[in-house]
Amino acid sequence: MDHPEHTDVVVIGLGPGGEYAAGTLAEAGLQVTGIESRLVGGECPYFGCVPSKMMIRAANLIAETRRVPGMAGASTITPDWSPVAQRIREEATDYWNDKVAADRFTGKGGHLVRGHGKITGPREVTVSGAEGTRVLAARKGIVINTGTAPAIPPIMGLAGTPYWTNRDIVQAERVPESLIILGGGAIGAEFAQVFARFGTAVTVVEALPRLVSFEEPEASALIERIFAAEGIRVCTDAPAERVSHNGKCFTVHLGNSIHTAEQLLVATGRRVDLAGLGVAAAGLDDKARTIPTDGWMRAADGVWAIGDVTGKGAFTHMSMYQADIAVRDILGQGGEPADYRAVPRVTFTDPEVGSVGLTEEQARAAGLRVRTGTTQVPYTARGWIHKAGNDGFVKVVEDAERSVLVGATSVGPCGGEVLSALQVAVRAEVPVATLRNMPYAYPTFYRAIEDALAKLNGAGSS
Ligand SMILES: Cc1cc2nc3c(=O)[nH]c(=O)nc-3n(C[C@H](O)[C@H](O)[C@H](O)COP(=O)(O)OP(=O)(O)OC[C@H]3O[C@@H](n4cnc5c(N)ncnc54)[C@H](O)[C@@H]3O)c2cc1C
Repeated sequence: MDHPEHTDVVVIGLGPGGEYAAGTLAEAGLQVTGIESRLVGGECPYFGCVPSKMMIRAANLIAETRRVPGMAGASTITPDWSPVAQRIREEATDYWNDKVAADRFTGKGGHLVRGHGKITGPREVTVSGAEGTRVLAARKGIVINTGTAPAIPPIMGLAGTPYWTNRDIVQAERVPESLIILGGGAIGAEFAQVFARFGTAVTVVEALPRLVSFEEPEASALIERIFAAEGIRVCTDAPAERVSHNGKCFTVHLGNSIHTAEQLLVATGRRVDLAGLGVAAAGLDDKARTIPTDGWMRAADGVWAIGDVTGKGAFTHMSMYQADIAVRDILGQGGEPADYRAVPRVTFTDPEVGSVGLTEEQARAAGLRVRTGTTQVPYTARGWIHKAGNDGFVKVVEDAERSVLVGATSVGPCGGEVLSALQVAVRAEVPVATLRNMPYAYPTFYRAIEDALAKLNGAGSS
């Protein structure tokens, strides 16, 4: 066996949180080795949030241009994908080259090892890569930030076809004429609207009864209505049974319909490979779907886990939040442990769907005495002024026993931004009486919160 190389901390996987943790610990003077098998920075900057939001920005410009008639004159637009593809290559991903991020990390004093890291003993990681195998011994411990990969469902015929995942679609140099998307969650819904607005005939196939099924049913209904208006075909309650590819196009068989398209995007969720990561060697269950941690992100003696792999929300903001907590724990700095009562999530469709805390159904399932209040954005002053593209609503979920909000949803133009006030209300448990006793700037979109709160007592509440 090779002699281990000693270091203070090994960070396996340099996603957003891992890169931050590794860099911060190195800056604090620890010997840190970061191991990355793909690109330093992880899924978000190269294959996730950043390129997808650049696409969405472009697609929303097209939609806004189409809203000009009746509001500000005449408009025509000829959508062109090439500036989007170029921007993703040149501004977002450097042609999927991580030199800038890698230099940023080593510039902080970190040591970067490229390859696949596997835990092979307590505080021991073995890295296999193009430059051979190295064994690293971590005096303080190991931070796991290995994230997730696209999950490919075992649909008959799918394996072996040239389907896309998010890692392919962000590299598209032209838009396909037609696209079937398997999966109507946040990722599938965002890409569906982008490509439809650029002229692709899009079909979304979702096994569950509704799109964005983790959100309030009213949000799903609204997104489905808007997708229908934009010509996106949505098949819900429709698990794909068989897929084939004839060299030119895909055919997808659902229970009672058959669909063909030039391209197929698989967006049916994410997976982790804990066995491949060797977590059993650290005393963890390698058959689990996630790595459970305590409030300090400790998973086992000398092991911290952060990001998607913890199952607390597959978001960049969660990865960064948990990374900060793990760093403070490793450096013995104390502070507050993790608190997941007010985790925000935003699906960047148009309208955006922002939500925080519990849905009404989750609050009821938790045994709370629930009251809800909902207001429709088009009937608010700002929504009415905004007119074209004003769809949305704000829904608040109150624990009536304590008279605090435990959840909220904000759908609409800037739905993700309007969410900020609601997140503070849920996290800080601001009394509903206090939320009501302040003026909301007129005529903002967030003023809909005041209307929704007023409805907690009136018609529409329950
Ligand atoms: C299309 C898409 C859009 C998204 N949009 C948003 C959004 O708008 N907002 C948001 O908050 N989140 C979004 N996400 C989610 C976001 O990308 C992730 O939550 C985020 O990247 C944080 O993940 P992470 O820190 O757990 O690790 P990841 O970013 O997944 O990175 C993990 C890294 O570990 C490496 N790795 C894995 N195993 C090993 C190993 N054994 N050895 C060495 N290296 C390894 C991988 O190569 C990878 O670089 C989106 C995701 C997708 C796919």
